[in-house]
Amino acid sequence: MSNYHPLTEVEAIEIAKTIPGIFDSEGELVSREIGDGNLNLVFHVGQPSTGKSVIVKQALPYAKVVGESWPLTLDRARIESEALKIEGRLAPGLVPEVYHTDNELALTVMEDLSNHVIMRQGLIEGGVYPKFANDISEFMARTLFFTSDLGMNQQEKKLLVHSFANPELCKITEDLIFDHPYTDADTNSFDPHLKEQAEKLWADTELHLEVAILREKFLTHAQALLHGDLHTGSIFITPESTKVIDPEFAYFGPIGFDIGAVLANLLLHFASQENWSADEASRQTRRQYLVQSIREIWVSFERKFRALWNEHGTDRIAKTAGYQDDYMQRLLQDTVGFTGAKMVRRIVGLAHVADIDRIPDPIVREKAQRLALEIGKSLIKRNRQVTSIEQLINIADSAS
Ligand code: ADP
Ligand code: MG
Ligand code: MG
Ligand code: MG
Repeated sequence: MSNYHPLTEVEAIEIAKTIPGIFDSEGELVSREIGDGNLNLVFHVGQPSTGKSVIVKQALPYAKVVGESWPLTLDRARIESEALKIEGRLAPGLVPEVYHTDNELALTVMEDLSNHVIMRQGLIEGGVYPKFANDISEFMARTLFFTSDLGMNQQEKKLLVHSFANPELCKITEDLIFDHPYTDADTNSFDPHLKEQAEKLWADTELHLEVAILREKFLTHAQALLHGDLHTGSIFITPESTKVIDPEFAYFGPIGFDIGAVLANLLLHFASQENWSADEASRQTRRQYLVQSIREIWVSFERKFRALWNEHGTDRIAKTAGYQDDYMQRLLQDTVGFTGAKMVRRIVGLAHVADIDRIPDPIVREKAQRLALEIGKSLIKRNRQVTSIEQLINIADSAS
């Protein structure tokens, strides 16, 4: 019999108390559920007398989407906890510290990052994050290199691939990113003014071919342990610090899928400047900042990944002449394709982004939506021809 049940705020306190070395035995603990409650509970447990706190995140056995509820494996809590530990080892300081894991209760007790803000909100408020490109490229280069066949023993990797199979969450991603947006699916959701744009997507066979190839890579290319959901809502940030959270979608997939998630969310924010910038001049400045971040993320990622390869590459495959250049070129092309796919789904698919959905004026919102769709479609269509990150940037610039 499983011991699983959704925790109350009082039970979250009891669990938090068992973590050694955080709280004073004297002072009272206060608990508050702060998650959005669609998939997981997130409790903030603090001790006012000492100012200490932890986060208790617990998976719920169902997903609540558009009023409906369907079962969803609790095993994702184990995946999230294990992924955070691996990421913390490979990229120290760039994820919350994990204090405790309970697979039966499907929970993780971790470092409280309430002194950071969720990057999506930070960007909407006009935040500038000078360390972000360096930190996120470091996170991706190190976690992805050291879990790939280039940086890890092949037999160990096979076992890890098995333990991170994550079939249910992969199926959600497959449907929502690579399937539903390209057909008249019930789960799709878009403003009525976008109906004609959506119908064009459903009829675009050139686009469908590229999406099928990206989907194949998503399903079969077990290149490295991905975060799997690396949008700006999974990043806690300040000007001085970056922390990646929420890797419950982690699985072994194509490296470009993670990089594409980051770039897509910066480009969605780029498209949303129709609203968030006050005038044309500040819009230009803001877009240049976002484009420069994208450039720096790719360039730093590539430099760091190549350096790790040169220093740690496994003899078995890493030393073949010409292989590194070929590999990096394919990574860039995958990145461009997945960037496009992750933009399109946020406009017509099930889950949108606040950057665009919160635009109050429907005409301004439609402009942002059309721009994001335009950029996304171009990136998908051209991904296999791209040879430089500047081409991705040109596509965004010339559409805007
Ligand atoms: P979900 O998988 O349900 O999206 P997240 O891990 O993204 O859950 O967390 C949801 C929200 O809970 C975050 O946006 C953040 O506000 C809060 N949260 C999650 N983890 C932490 C943390 N370590 N420190 C502070 N707040 C957190
Ligand atoms: Mg959420
Ligand atoms: Mg989340
Ligand atoms: Mg999540």
